[in-house]
Amino acid sequence: MRTKMVAGNWKMNKNLQEGVALATELKEAVKNPIGTPFIHLATVAELLKGSAIKVAAENCADHEKGAYTGEVSAEMVKSTGAEYVILGHSERRQYYAESYEMLAEKVRLALANGLKVIFCIGEVKEEREAGKQNEVVKAQLEGSVFGLSAEEWKNITLAYEPVWAIGTGLTATPAQAEEIHAYIRSLVAEKYGKEAAEDTTILYGGSCNEKNAAELFACPDIDGGLIGGAALVAEKFLAIIAAR
Ligand code: PEP
Repeated sequence: MRTKMVAGNWKMNKNLQEGVALATELKEAVKNPIGTPFIHLATVAELLKGSAIKVAAENCADHEKGAYTGEVSAEMVKSTGAEYVILGHSERRQYYAESYEMLAEKVRLALANGLKVIFCIGEVKEEREAGKQNEVVKAQLEGSVFGLSAEEWKNITLAYEPVWAIGTGLTATPAQAEEIHAYIRSLVAEKYGKEAAEDTTILYGGSCNEKNAAELFACPDIDGGLIGGAALVAEKFLAIIAAR
């Protein structure tokens, strides 16, 4: 049985006090990871201890430890009480040149340190216009996560996020999203078997909000959402969770 989930991604928004205030408002919501900036992790994880909300980092280093000034390792993330890490977000790929290989290493280290991974994939506008979305997501999966063992795979949640829909107000239609989610699930089935594919949670992300969430989440292969902008306002995020 796969888990239905709505995860929030605060990105580089909210100072510590604002983050604590938002987490306090969300405290009673069930089973939803929220991704916070590194410096919020320990405080928010402590605040949400005992609640059903899990805390996620938005990144971790591609090295175990050592002379990497400014980096935060998977072990450090885990030591804050966070249970998840979001990896492969298109903003990391685009602005910080995160390659398939680098992401494969981040995923490996995250899992080795007991974190669960929300792994993001998705095509840019030009790739969608050229009808290349399937080959893009396939390459992203093969390049960074299809080297994992079946046991490791159990700790992977996928998030399909068409880059053209992130923060733009353009959402994939439920039909567009369902089509590619079903394709992604078929790739997981080819690699890890049908049962593992059925158990894999695949989230949709990209301008998902309280108005369009219910229609998207009603699709058979869409198991919830990864929410950016709308996760910054408790009322909106809670309405999306209610649509799950
Ligand atoms: C995201 O960045 O993961 C995202 C889905 O953002 P938004 O909801 O703002 O499009």
